[in-house]
Amino acid sequence: MKTIIHLLSGGIDSTVLLYDLVRQGHNVHCLLFNYGQKHAQELTFAKHHCREVDVLWTTIDLPNLRGSKLTDGSGSFVVPNRNGIMLSVAVNLAVAAGADTVTYACNADDKEMFPDCRPAFVEAMNQAIKDAGCDVEVCAPYIGKTKREIVEIGKGFGVNLNQTWSCYRGGANPCWTCPACVTRATAMSQ
Ligand SMILES: [Zn+2]
Repeated sequence: MKTIIHLLSGGIDSTVLLYDLVRQGHNVHCLLFNYGQKHAQELTFAKHHCREVDVLWTTIDLPNLRGSKLTDGSGSFVVPNRNGIMLSVAVNLAVAAGADTVTYACNADDKEMFPDCRPAFVEAMNQAIKDAGCDVEVCAPYIGKTKREIVEIGKGFGVNLNQTWSCYRGGANPCWTCPACVTRATAMSQ
């Protein structure tokens, strides 16, 4: 059994991984980030699942993180180094809490759009953590799995995936046009 600090967004991947870790018998504490995201309603779903599996959570307020600009000057859904920032905060708290592992749920479908979801990033992050003198390992157990495969794992655990949020926009309902909505719809419909 490990003591794990788990980054939980309230989306499909990190929610399924939460159930996975709890089922494996690990001692899990979730970190939720309020970072100025338009889709802050995802945190409501995150808390719901923490209650469902009976784990504690901490909500961290970060100063508003900014999205990167596309070449045409419009905003992007990519928040530069978002996972690097969140993982760094998690490592700090892990050391304080005596946790040996930090988990986050990037998947194989993420790696094209998000550099901080790639294996090279996880490897470099772990090297940086080691060089910073922290005895904590960052693990991304779903990095080789597609979102479709993660949906299947979640269904196997009986996770109610309707109680998750993917849309990047801040509407009351999903927009079904942003990259997160499109990926979600594809993964859920097959
Ligand atoms: Zn959307």
